[in-house]
Amino acid sequence: MSKIKVAELFYSLQGEGAYLGTPSVFLRTFGCNFQCAGFGMKRGEHSKERENVDPNNYERYDDLPLVHTGCDSYASWDARFKHLSPMMSIESIVDKMQALLPGGKFGPDKHLILTGGEPLLGWQRAYIDLFEEIGKRDMNLTHITFETNGTQPLHEDLKSWFVDNEHFPWINITFSVSSKLPSSGEAWEDAIKPEIIQEYYEYSSLLYFKWVVSDEDDYVDILKAVDIYGKVCDIESIPIYLMPAGGTSKVYDSNEGWVAELAMNNGWRYTPRLQVQLWKNAWGT
Ligand code: SF4
Repeated sequence: MSKIKVAELFYSLQGEGAYLGTPSVFLRTFGCNFQCAGFGMKRGEHSKERENVDPNNYERYDDLPLVHTGCDSYASWDARFKHLSPMMSIESIVDKMQALLPGGKFGPDKHLILTGGEPLLGWQRAYIDLFEEIGKRDMNLTHITFETNGTQPLHEDLKSWFVDNEHFPWINITFSVSSKLPSSGEAWEDAIKPEIIQEYYEYSSLLYFKWVVSDEDDYVDILKAVDIYGKVCDIESIPIYLMPAGGTSKVYDSNEGWVAELAMNNGWRYTPRLQVQLWKNAWGT
């Protein structure tokens, strides 16, 4: 049976997007193909906050400091912190899910979220074992969401499982795609992959885009990305969510109003970030 390197496994509320407020088990896998050191920085500058955290001082995610620039889930991909993320067997992951879930089961209002890092990077075949184990234990799983940066192709085996599996004939597969804009510090050609989006669109019950907006330049880049994605899928049928930038309440609060208006003016959706509002963006939320 396969194993997954697990950064975090916790029960919380979905804080963003289409299933906002839905109680969910979050499986945060280890590894990412990006670093997103540009978040919260002037264009062209990279955050050093992560590099200043000494991994030797920490033995659990909950004790790690929060960063306010760069990637806020840095320890889920930075190899210096890999000792915090154990390789877990599928059985032990599902045991923990059962312990976390009220009543030990999922259901229409308790979802499974695979997040990262980038969850579609290395564990796609292991997910099949994971879903099968959940199915064997009759845990009534109805909704799986992949929170992805939209750059990784789907493995043929996972695609086959989506369309033809024994346990979940009516499973809802959602791709919550947060494509990285140049303000993240990642290059456009690495981050905007229309052929990948087309594949997710084809194999999902729901695909939506979710963009963090910090300034007018982000808006211009979003328009450009929407135009490119519109060439490979029916963009009118895909919800677009804007959410205010800000890992701290102060920055977040200052962005809320104008980002909400920007969403309205474009006929797009606005999503708050509950994990910032309720729990100050702490690890495990
Ligand atoms: S893609 Fe997501 S997890 Fe990866 S570095 Fe960027 S913000 Fe962090």
